[in-house]
Amino acid sequence: MDTNTENKACNCFTETLNRVKEHLTEQGKIPADAIDVSFGWQGQTYMLSGGQYAPVNPKIEVKFRAAKKSGGHARNLTKNELSIVASHCCYCGREYQRDNG
Ligand SMILES: [Zn+2]
Repeated sequence: MDTNTENKACNCFTETLNRVKEHLTEQGKIPADAIDVSFGWQGQTYMLSGGQYAPVNPKIEVKFRAAKKSGGHARNLTKNELSIVASHCCYCGREYQRDNG
């Protein structure tokens, strides 16, 4: 059994989500008679590999107008996006422990 609490993953994202849910419910932003109420981080990523990860990671959007062989540049933007895996929790600053083994 692992007793090293330093390496234990934090629950910041889950706690924050629960806090927001409670707050919105208390404020009456979600009607008491509503059904199918669902809360979740937008853009949540699921990691298949082991280790600790934030459920949401920063995304980088890349856009450019490529040069055409005939001269000039393409009318349409070429777009791409990629996620950068966060190394630390954005709430408590704890470094995520990666399972590289
Ligand atoms: Zn945290």
